[in-house]
Amino acid sequence: MLTDPFAIADAYRMLSVMPKIAVLAGDGIGPEVCAEAVKVLQAVDQQHELNLTFERAVIGGAAIDQYGVAITDSDFAMCEKCDAILLGAVGGPKWDDPEATVRPEQALFRLRFGFKLYANLRPVKVNSTLIGASPIRQEVLEGTDLLVVRELTGGLYFGKPSKIFKAPNGVTKAVDTMAYSQPEIERIVDTAFKLARERRKKVTSVDKANVLSTSRLWRQVATAVAKRYPDVEYGNMLVDNCSMQLIRDPRQFDVIVTENMFGDILTDEASQLTGSMGLLPSASLGTGKFGLYEPIHGSAPDIAGKGIANPLATILSSALMLRLSLNRPDAAETIETAVQRVLDSGYRTVDIVAPGTKQVPTDEMGNLVVEALREAVAAA
Ligand code: NAD
Repeated sequence: MLTDPFAIADAYRMLSVMPKIAVLAGDGIGPEVCAEAVKVLQAVDQQHELNLTFERAVIGGAAIDQYGVAITDSDFAMCEKCDAILLGAVGGPKWDDPEATVRPEQALFRLRFGFKLYANLRPVKVNSTLIGASPIRQEVLEGTDLLVVRELTGGLYFGKPSKIFKAPNGVTKAVDTMAYSQPEIERIVDTAFKLARERRKKVTSVDKANVLSTSRLWRQVATAVAKRYPDVEYGNMLVDNCSMQLIRDPRQFDVIVTENMFGDILTDEASQLTGSMGLLPSASLGTGKFGLYEPIHGSAPDIAGKGIANPLATILSSALMLRLSLNRPDAAETIETAVQRVLDSGYRTVDIVAPGTKQVPTDEMGNLVVEALREAVAAA
């Protein structure tokens, strides 16, 4: 009998015939890219009879302006009743006051921690059509296909932060705390090994064990977990070396598993292998099917409101949602194929535009993906 409330909620979700998606667009370019992903989901819904329903709520800076908190209790409860969350991004200069105690990121942390979404999967696959969009040389990039498994509910981002304060000696200080427990490390490393078994069977655990005690524990636990997977090649790498190896020889990696902040930083770097921050999707999962899907990028205030953001990372995140939370790999593949067709036809948002390609705005890119979906059905 199921007793864990999360397992019970998951069992109910499995029975759901009308999957509910919480759309939390957030701030900056969040609403622009989410609108395109929803448009694509609605088109694929019609084709595949998914019976999707959408619930919307404001989070982040927009929620602070409206309600004084980054996410309200009732919106969190609304998400709990959904099968998955599609999120844009939160934050921006308006809410950047260093003294502020209410911050847009608190919405992300509450969702991640509240739903126990400890595994953040960030696939990084170089698309041969876009190889020229990367600042890295083609011969280094070709064939790059890696997965970063980032721990998402521990480490520095969840340690108790201090305010900025004056120490007794008069010096202004601030303190963050980094903590990891053996079970927290074990479950994420185990996830990475399981995923590696479905790929090229290689795991690189990334830490800073020469300096940090949390990393020394990380390495100890990762090495113990690796013994349970003798069929998977296992190695350790220091994070500073990894940041260099990612641009020197990205093909050496299959699955990278690492702690929260290292994974955050390494994937922004890895996005440049693919050509843009606007191309990398992500899935955040716990032990069940429920998941949160979002692009790896932030709210990009420098381009917000201009209609030029690349929506493909969010559209591809919605494909991950169909595959991992809604059990519809067929529908996910349709979206991925449509995105590929649009890129193969030479359409690009400004971040990946190149000579000989056609520049389109955010909403046009979404329309083109929808059109490609319809063409695929018509041709079938
Ligand atoms: P960012 O990811 O928002 O932007 C970095 C650079 O990449 C910018 O030049 C931006 O224009 C570009 N970029 C990002 N997404 C793009 C897209 N879809 N298409 C084209 N170009 C794109 O990072 P930042 O500028 O350091 O942070 C801006 C705000 O976002 C901050 O308030 C930060 O806290 C927040 N942030 C939120 C999340 C999240 O919601 N998950 C993640 C990271 C940063």
